[in-house]
Amino acid sequence: MVTKNKSNNICSCGKNATIFLHYANRLLCETHFIEMFDKRVGRTIREFGMLKKGDKVAVGLSGGKDSCVLLHSLAQINMPIKLVAITIDEGIKGYRNNTLKTAKRECEKLGIEHVVYSFKETAGKTMDDIANQKNEIPCSYCGVIRRYMLNKAAKETGANKLATGHNVDDIAQTLLMNIMRNEPSRIWRNSDNENFVKRIKPLVRTPEREIAIYAMLKGIKLDRADCPYAHFAFRSHVRKLLNETEERYPGTKFKVVNSFFEMTNSNIMEQTIGKYGKKKNTGKMSKCKTCNQPGSEDMCMFCKMKKNIS
Ligand code: SF4
Repeated sequence: MVTKNKSNNICSCGKNATIFLHYANRLLCETHFIEMFDKRVGRTIREFGMLKKGDKVAVGLSGGKDSCVLLHSLAQINMPIKLVAITIDEGIKGYRNNTLKTAKRECEKLGIEHVVYSFKETAGKTMDDIANQKNEIPCSYCGVIRRYMLNKAAKETGANKLATGHNVDDIAQTLLMNIMRNEPSRIWRNSDNENFVKRIKPLVRTPEREIAIYAMLKGIKLDRADCPYAHFAFRSHVRKLLNETEERYPGTKFKVVNSFFEMTNSNIMEQTIGKYGKKKNTGKMSKCKTCNQPGSEDMCMFCKMKKNIS
């Protein structure tokens, strides 16, 4: 598993190394890698004040590596919190049915309540139906409907926090995508609103590659199939671009994410919007007049899409 390594492949404890952290020039054995991983998740939770005693946390559990590892990390955290796992079944044949089995199995293993919500029941169509019906990139529909359903499901389970498995790679990709599409206001899209269950991302300081290794070391059996619609996504292109850059310039992904946090703290975005005086969506939320869920206009994106596909 050690890929680009130092000459002796030995962790500082003397054991054989399992992983080489390119960006930190460090070799770690299995035990020290898991220890480092868990500590970093704990530090991230404290850094952003993500959790407090008595929280009920809904974990968005797709059954992929990120969400399964997140579930395992939160299950072993030393804090009295309650967990419930939510899986959104988009209805993608040959893909979601397999990850659903993984989600169910991991919840049983950890003794965590698991609820499943389907696109078909909520939006009236499966993702496969939508992809067949619309000559548009399926992910645009999928993302909006899934976000809506996760928030609704988290509320219905009585959770006050909604944890998702977004990692360093996801955040860096999203930032670049928003900049490349000239949609900077989406970077700071505000979900800190009473109508949204508060979102937390405990893996925001963790790279995707390390999540995959952690999942393997923890014995989480994963289905490796990709979503059949993934190749349509702009994200796939940006992911490739970032991976190539990281390979040549280790630490790039961390730097992109850190830039985001620095800009957030220094309010550069607000200054930019102010400077150009554009009436862009700066994240203000109200309630959708159709479904009563949060939305930035009279009709939320979910209801618009639902209307569009019915
Ligand atoms: Fe949905 Fe696109 Fe992700 Fe597939 S790749 S699950 S269609 S967002």
